[in-house]
Amino acid sequence: MPVTVQNISKLYGTQTALHNVSLDIPKGQVVGLLGPNGAGKSTLMKILTGYLPADAGKAIVNGFDVAIQPLEARRNTGYLPEHNPVYPDLYVREFLELMGRLQGLGRKAKKRAAEVIALTGITPEQHKKVGQLSKGYRQRVGLAQALLHDPETLILDEPTSGLDPNQLTGIRQLIQSLGRDHTVLLSTHIMQEVEAMCTRIVIINKGNIVLDKPTGAINLQTQSLEDLFRQLTNDN
Ligand code: ADP
Ligand code: MG
Repeated sequence: MPVTVQNISKLYGTQTALHNVSLDIPKGQVVGLLGPNGAGKSTLMKILTGYLPADAGKAIVNGFDVAIQPLEARRNTGYLPEHNPVYPDLYVREFLELMGRLQGLGRKAKKRAAEVIALTGITPEQHKKVGQLSKGYRQRVGLAQALLHDPETLILDEPTSGLDPNQLTGIRQLIQSLGRDHTVLLSTHIMQEVEAMCTRIVIINKGNIVLDKPTGAINLQTQSLEDLFRQLTNDN
């Protein structure tokens, strides 16, 4: 199982960000973590990637407990954080080669940078500075960075946030194609996005998982996220 989350809770001070969350993601699934702002999506992803400790519970990623062996857990995981930290003054190719070296790729960094540039469709932009790119291309650079060490599992925090409709289509297609040979957990607050990219939908609200179903099992076209929440809250 690439991702196993067992009864994870997280508090910031006295505020609960995650409450007893459990989730198993088998190999090959593309899971959309859907929820409004403040639901706990980024917190869960930070815990899964070892950037934040949980207060209770256990997260096992690619066979390793992230609290005990964070480096091993991360070795097979690519992470696009919510604030995609790309360096505006570096050239795209230079940035990716540098990140590759920091990942320990050594002399392979150059070749691997070229590969992820091709894979994420940024070849025409590779000689520009990161800061000169459109938001859509910057997201691609973030994805390219997440793919550098050829991980099997991808954790993508709002990969499409802030993109215009044209850029959205491109990034969605890219993520769909990555989903063919990766296990993916991505977050979004857009319903239709889950339908376009994901095989499974997990809805999180106020730190609780309130729905977990195959994408086909619910009609996302006719329902707004708000309606769905209202329904779920009434049912409980
Ligand atoms: P999402 O990614 O779904 O928007 P987050 O995981 O970022 O949600 O946040 C979950 C909750 O935790 C929110 O109520 C948010 O205000 C709170 N929170 C997130 N990060 C911090 C922090 N560093 N300090 C205090 N509260 C935080
Ligand atoms: Mg977030």
